[in-house]
This record gives sequence, C-alpha cells and structure tokens, in this order.
Amino acid sequence: MKTTPTIRVIGAIRGSICLVAAFLMMLDSGCRNDKPSVGPADPEPGIPLSLATQRAQAIEGLKYELSFSIPADPAQPVSAHAVIRFATKDITRPVVLDFSPGADYLKSVTVGGKPSHYRLVKDHIIIPKEEIASEDNAIEITFRAGDASLNRNPDFMYTLFVPARAHLAFPCFDQPNLKARYALELDVPGGWQAVANGAETFHETAGDRVRIRYSETQPIPTYLFAFAAGKFQVESAERNGRWYRMFHRETDAKKVERNKKAVFDLHASSLEWLEKYTGIPYRFGKFDFVLIPSFQFGGMEHPGSIFYNAASILLDESATENQMLNRASTIAHETSHMWFGDLVTMQWFNDVWMKEVFANFMAAKIVNPAFPNVNHDLRFLVSYYPPAYAVDRTAGTHPIRQELANLDEAGSLYGNIIYDKAPIVMRQLERILGPDKLQDGLRAYLKQFQFGNATWLDLIAILDDRTDLDLKAWSHGWVEEAGRPSIRTVLESDRVGFIQSDPQEGRSLRWTQHIDVLIGRNHTVTSVPLDIKGERAEVKIPAGISKPDWILPTGGGLAYGDFTLDDATRSFLLHQLPDLKDPLTRGAAWVTLWEEMLDRRVGPSDFIELAIRALPREDTEQNVQLTLSYVSDMFWTVLSELQRHDIAPQLEQILRAGLDRAGSSTMKSTYFSAFRSTVTTTDGIAFLERVWRRQEKIPGLTLAEPDEAGMALDLAVRSVPAAAAILQEQRTRFMNPDRKARFEFVIPALSDQQETRDAWFDSLKDVKNRRREPWVLEGLQYLHHPLRAASSEKYIRPSLDLLIEIQRTGDIFFPTRWMNATLGDHNTRSAATVVREFLSQQKNYPIRLRRIILQAADELFRTAG
Ligand SMILES: [Zn+2]
Repeated sequence: MKTTPTIRVIGAIRGSICLVAAFLMMLDSGCRNDKPSVGPADPEPGIPLSLATQRAQAIEGLKYELSFSIPADPAQPVSAHAVIRFATKDITRPVVLDFSPGADYLKSVTVGGKPSHYRLVKDHIIIPKEEIASEDNAIEITFRAGDASLNRNPDFMYTLFVPARAHLAFPCFDQPNLKARYALELDVPGGWQAVANGAETFHETAGDRVRIRYSETQPIPTYLFAFAAGKFQVESAERNGRWYRMFHRETDAKKVERNKKAVFDLHASSLEWLEKYTGIPYRFGKFDFVLIPSFQFGGMEHPGSIFYNAASILLDESATENQMLNRASTIAHETSHMWFGDLVTMQWFNDVWMKEVFANFMAAKIVNPAFPNVNHDLRFLVSYYPPAYAVDRTAGTHPIRQELANLDEAGSLYGNIIYDKAPIVMRQLERILGPDKLQDGLRAYLKQFQFGNATWLDLIAILDDRTDLDLKAWSHGWVEEAGRPSIRTVLESDRVGFIQSDPQEGRSLRWTQHIDVLIGRNHTVTSVPLDIKGERAEVKIPAGISKPDWILPTGGGLAYGDFTLDDATRSFLLHQLPDLKDPLTRGAAWVTLWEEMLDRRVGPSDFIELAIRALPREDTEQNVQLTLSYVSDMFWTVLSELQRHDIAPQLEQILRAGLDRAGSSTMKSTYFSAFRSTVTTTDGIAFLERVWRRQEKIPGLTLAEPDEAGMALDLAVRSVPAAAAILQEQRTRFMNPDRKARFEFVIPALSDQQETRDAWFDSLKDVKNRRREPWVLEGLQYLHHPLRAASSEKYIRPSLDLLIEIQRTGDIFFPTRWMNATLGDHNTRSAATVVREFLSQQKNYPIRLRRIILQAADELFRTAG
C-alpha cells in the first residue's frame, strides 16, 4: 500500500448503505437469530488479538468459495454466497466468523448442509461447537454483501479490504495470519469488465448479465483478496514473455497512449528486478492492474490485481520530474509487495510497517537506475527526512513497531513513521550489515516463510546470525521506541564533539547510527565517517584545516535527529548556503535549518530571505521543490500578516522569474504551483487570472483540466471581482464529469458567504457527505485557507469532536488528513487554545487519535507559542 502524497483527483462515489425493501422481503428467517445478543464469553467487536491468535492456532486448510452478484445500480443490493471450508485443531470451542453488516444481511447459514443454530453478536457469527468437526467443515452462507468496503459507483465498483474490512462485505476470518485459497465467481451487468486475483477461467453472457469465474488463488490473507468490476477499458501488453493488463476509465485517449508504454515497462522491469534480487519467481500467476479514479491510496498490492490511484499512473503533460519518479516508485513499491507482504505476510498488523519499508526500500533500488540523471541520495533525503521529522518531532510521535490489541484500530498505525522514518532506519540497517548480507538474509527469510507469516523479530533473528553487531539492541532504539536523538555540535581546539541526548524525559535512550560528517574550509569539503553510539562521539579536524568554516553532521545525507549546529556553521549557512557545491549538502543544510527554525534557533525572516537569495541560483529540481515547499508552508503559517505583506512582491518576482528561467516543464510546474499557492499581490493575482482566461500563456507549461480547475478555485478564494463568472465558466470547460462533480462539491467551501461555508461544513457531519474523502479534504483546505483563517477557526472544535466518528466511518488515512486539513493553515494562539482545551478535556481519549491531533497541531503550537 502506498499513500498519495498530494490529493488532487477525480472522485469516486460510494454507494449508500441503505437497505432495499425488495431484498429484505426475500430474506427468510431460517434458523437465524434476529436479535444480536452479547454474552459474557462472546468475542469483542472488531478483530481482537486474542480471538485472532486462538483462531490462527486452530484453523487449517482454509478455503473460500465466494460468489457475488453485482447490480449496475449502486443502491441495489449485492447478493452473495460463501462456502467456507476448513479443518480445526480445536473442537472444544465455537467457530467465530467475522461479519459486520448484521442480521438483516444474512439469509441462511448451514454447516455440512444442515441449518446452523448460529448466534449473531456484533461483528461476528458464532457457530456452535457441536456443529464443528475436526476435518472437512463446510459453512455455507447466503447473504447480502455489506457495501461499506465495496466502493460502489454508478459505473464501477472495487473492493478495498485492507486492513480488516473484508468482513464488512462477507463472512470470513478477517486476520492476516489465516491465509486461504479463494475461488471467486462474479455476476456483473453486460458491458462491464471484471478483474480479480486469479485468472479468468470461465466467461458466459446470459441476457444482460455476464458470469465470470476465476482460478483459485494461492494462499493469501483477507486484506489482499480483491476484485473490481465496471465500465473499464482494458489495455494489454507483453514484456519478456509475460502479459500485463491495465484496466482504466480514462476518457482522454491521448493521455492513455502517452502513458501506457512507460507504465507497462515500469511493471516489467520491477518484476524482473525483484525475481533476480529475491531468487524467487513471481508466484501469483497473471499480472493485472486497475487504475481507479480517486482511489484512497497511491496503490494497493492485491496479488494479480494491483489497484492504483489513476492520477498517479496516468500523468498529465505538465507532470513534474517528481511525479514521474513517484509513479515509478509507486509501481516498484506495489510490485515489491508481491514478495514483501503478499508472499510473506506479517503475523499481525503491528508489523505492517515491515512490508511497507521493504516495498519502499526495494522501490528505491529498482527505480534508481531508470533515472540516471537524478541525484538519488538527494531524492532519498528530500523524500523521507522532512515527512519523518514532521511526525517524529511532535508530541504525537510513536515507535515504528506499535502494540495493536484489535484490528479495528489498525488504520491508525499507518503514517509517516512507517512510510518515511522506517526507510531511513532500513538504510541504516543495510549500512551496518552491508548490502550482500542483507540480501542473503532477506532471501533466507522469504524462502523460510513463503505463503506464510512472520514477524520483525523473525527477520532480526535471521540477520543477527549474519553479523557480530548486537542487532537486537540497535532494533530496540530505532524500531521499538519513539522519537529521535538530539545531537549538538561542540567545537573544540582540534576536534568536534557531537553530544547525543534523549529529548524524552526520564528515558535516556542512546541511538546507534553511522553518519558522514562534512567539514568545509575555503571551498574544500572533507567527509569524515563517524559512528555515533553513546553520549558523545567526536571527529578530529583533519590536518591542514586550522579553523573550519562549517561543520555539518547531516551533510552526508545520512544522519537522523534534531541537530543543533554550532553558531559559526549556522551563520555561515544563513549567508552562504547557495555557495555549497554539492546539491546533497545543500539539501541537507535546508532540512537542518528548517528544524532549527522550528526550534527557534533560526529566525523565520532570516530563513525566507535565504530562500529568496538561493532560489535564483538553485538549479537542482529536488532542492527547488524542497525550498519552495518550505517557503509555501512558512509563508502562510510562520510569517505574520505584516511580514507576508512585506515579502510578497519580492517573493512573487522570484517565483515568476523562476517560472521564466526554468529549463524543463517539470521545473516550470514546480514554480507555478508555488506561485499559485502563495500569490497575494494585485499584480500577481491579475497574472494568474490572465493565465486561467488563456489570455496569457506560460511558454513550456501545459495546463490540464485539474490545473485550470484549481486556478479557478484559487482565484475565487482570493475573492477576485469576477469570481462568480470564473467558477461559472470553469463549469463549462470540464470534459471529465468526475472532475466537474468534484469541483461542484468544493465550491461552497470557498464561498464568500459565511452562511454557505457554514452549511457546507455542517453537511460533513452526515457520513453520506464524507464518502468522497479527497473531495472533502480539498474543500476543507479551501475552507481553512489562511485568507479565511479568522472565520474558519470556529470549525476547529466541531472537527475535533467528529474525529472519533471520522475514524469509525472513514478510510485509514482520513483521520490524519482530516486533522491536517483542519489545522494546517492556522497559526493563532486562539486556534492553539481550542486544540489544547479539547485535549485536556478528553481524559480517556483514544491514544492514537490523540497522537494524530498532536502531530497535526505541532506547527500551530510552535508558531502560536
Ligand atoms: Zn505499500
């Protein structure tokens, strides 16, 4: 699975979970117990660890035979049938299946052909132990599938069962360590395409319906079982003897044509690379992928049928270099999961980070050779360090490896610590072990546990055999504990000391890391390797350097922590950062100075003045993007209104000069995005309006439909006189109906009428209006736009009050994104007080949601004081 870094896509409309009278009438009572009851010994709701552990020890030889009949109308019920076959080592207990839609959705349950005296409790069907044998159990269930994880739209649907949402649709053992074979049959409307994990083995058209059967899968967990059906177009291609198919709904044929060769190539090269690295061939048969509009993630690694967010795969002509790299990385990431996650799966979702870190780690190795012009060390730094720090510096941070008592909380494990800090830690592991030993260990691990499950500690044990280092101690600091070291540079006569401390009170943890310290003097830079272990580490200043100009422990792009530079280095960088020759050193210096600014050791105006001086001289796109992201962030949240007003003309001039000067369309795109997000002067806004009106062209930059829609919204939120007419004309420009619907959804959020904005926000309290999460987030970003911050502060408290429900009803990244969109642009003391008061009032608030709030509020707390 991969997160979507930016959310700017067309929407999916998910079907409502309303009951349909006709379907209710066909339900007969059978032996079903209508009233769910909860006895003292009944399992808790969700998937508790205790239940999962007990089932994993007992159940064997698990197979599902599933059929779903999908009507075209998303309001009509999906009727379904399941046969669940298994053996069990424990016939002393009832068998607990997971199924959350409830009694109204169950039509009949039989065991071994006889009606079952099952009981229904919240989220579970309990089959009496008397009906269970040790061998050859077959539980047969006729039911209506729950819609909550079926993502039903008028013309298509797709399943998304990660982390434990399969039982929202069908009865199953919804846990990662009960792998099963799945035989699937789908009945779909004529004219629809359908795709699943297995290859199609049977296809029959009868009247206006199509029946399709798929070959039985390899053993896979519920969260990887998947299918999609609908009006899709299918492209296929052969690469080195293997066929790939791409399902998509893109209406722009040129766009498909422009992208498809690269997309097939990227899959094929990733797959071949992984087969070579792991020494294990791809084990899941056919290889298809589905491009879904407004997919919740960047991608999801269902074996044989990867799902992607369409916008991250089919790129616009204006795509930045970063978007192209991200696409290659996403494809390599999901393909890596075929081994890391799919072939060997975590025992429990507390180790979900493992599959993510390996997918990222492999993706970096795969993608790098395909982009020989890119500085990959710099890319690693820019991709992972800022987002890892964004969480790890906050009071809401957490260890990479977390406790997880129930899978219904699994969603809250995902975030930057898993996606961004873990890759940094994994690179350190490779540094310590050496690439060959790591590869050797991974091969042994994949071989030993293939088609099974394993924990992080299983892997550490395998790797520990291959080194003299104490890997368990290393793993404890980086993986099992939260936070980052504070490391302070101390200049001495002939040496430099680095003093490590633990910012968390009462813990005194010491982290082990291998770093490269850079020492600069008169344009000569010396790199000195250093192992940091205990409280203090030091390097001798190399002979010939009497007095260094600067010392940068982060300069080699490896060091991780909160670094306090010495005063001379800080001052040198604030004046001469653009003089540093190596782009990686410049990138590392930017990241370090940003952290120093947040810690108030560097002044915001010094930082932005440095950026304004540096941008005209910076020609490395990664650094331009990094600098512009810092500038856009601080422009609205760190600078005061007066500082903004003073700096805006100069900043806009620099951005427009960058736009003119940029040699590539990707660089132009980067500058234009930053300009769009920060423009405030009359001249600047007039320029933006001329571009939107197509009266002025930016040579070398093609603006696609989403760009124009975004510009129209940016103009409207700035309350330009023609705002209403601009929005109206934008409506007529849309060719893509999904994008138009999203645009209509967002408009009330940026209305200049307070009552309209109030009504839009109030509508979000109804879960129906939150179904299209990317739309909601885009609306929230405009609702809380800094220009509206004073009037949007009142939405903070009700948004906090909604968070528990947001987590309960939404997809896994929604709580974090909801909070980031709500708090990201606020910087006042009163806004900070709202959050602090909420946190102090909620005594028994769920810890993971508290962390999400603390993470999202970190910059607000820092700037508001
Ligand atoms: Zn992933």
